[in-house]
Amino acid sequence: MKIREVTLREVRMKLVTPFETSAERTVERRIVLTEVVTDNAVGWGECVAGEHPFYSPETTDTAWLVMRDFLWPMLKGKEIAGAADVWGLLDHVRGHNMAKAALEAAIWDAEAKQKGVPLAKLMGGTREEISSGVSIGIKESLDELAAEVRKELAAGYQRIKIKIKPGKDVPQVKRLRDEFPGIKLMVDANSAYRMEDWPLLKQLESFYLMMIEQPLGWDDLYAHVELQKKLDTPICLDECIHTEEQARAAIALGACKIINIKMGRVGGHTVARRIHDLCQQNGMPVWCGGMLESGIGRAHNIALSTLPNFTLPGDVAASRRYWDEDIIEPEVIVSAQGTIRVPTGPGIGFEPRRERIEKLTVRKERLV
Ligand code: MG
Repeated sequence: MKIREVTLREVRMKLVTPFETSAERTVERRIVLTEVVTDNAVGWGECVAGEHPFYSPETTDTAWLVMRDFLWPMLKGKEIAGAADVWGLLDHVRGHNMAKAALEAAIWDAEAKQKGVPLAKLMGGTREEISSGVSIGIKESLDELAAEVRKELAAGYQRIKIKIKPGKDVPQVKRLRDEFPGIKLMVDANSAYRMEDWPLLKQLESFYLMMIEQPLGWDDLYAHVELQKKLDTPICLDECIHTEEQARAAIALGACKIINIKMGRVGGHTVARRIHDLCQQNGMPVWCGGMLESGIGRAHNIALSTLPNFTLPGDVAASRRYWDEDIIEPEVIVSAQGTIRVPTGPGIGFEPRRERIEKLTVRKERLV
């Protein structure tokens, strides 16, 4: 297949409710969408970089620049066997995984559409539906948090993850365990703690959490090795794992027992799949994390989550939790059992709503 052109669009989308982590509070997303044209197909991708470099070093603006000035020139006009070749073509650029993934994922979608198969099938997915969990941001009060959890459980979600930070941790978890003793519960600290906080993290063990996600430094594998030795609760790594090599190191060193795979963080579906395979070979479960994506990124996450070792419910939830109106048709819905049906149409299986996308677009650049 030949890679012919790409259109970059920045869309602005206001969240239904602001989302707060230990690192930042997001009200409105600035999302870069990629629309790649190949021989006879058009594929869509989404860049998950944030507005600020508070989750990873990349931002909406750095991703735009890197895609336009460095990555696109490496792809344009290239004849490739399939989307799995894209990662290798971009190898000369170090880092900028979210920018790479935005282009790479669109080419995966295009290849699946060209072949007339669902993206999930093209990638080797085996599931017809995926298990859905929610990620709940930091709330002002315990009552507000408990009310939110009650609402999400009633909607069917299979696991609850809450964001924590120093001062908003043990009481929050205790309150939820008192009210919901049987639920699948986990916490995500987004690197808000330091090694010397380990006794506090140890206190969380009495609440039998599924896992503690990314408690320590965003790029500090060693500290997590030391912490995991002190904890029985599995550590799940998110921010730390931005390459296949880091996943291999984390597994070998015992820095975690679970990995949250985000294809944007690791540079696209190809590396996400390699990390998935590596974890599977090592008996380590994985799940798919969320980055406040629009429907397009969400659709890619659904396809990725169909791979066999995604055995834990992920963050991929219904469009309505995030947006009044999504940019895909149909929007992503979650069943009363907390599952999402994997679409059976070609590619990502959801149609981008062009009129809506144009309406939300604040800048656009066509590269040929
Ligand atoms: Mg996380």
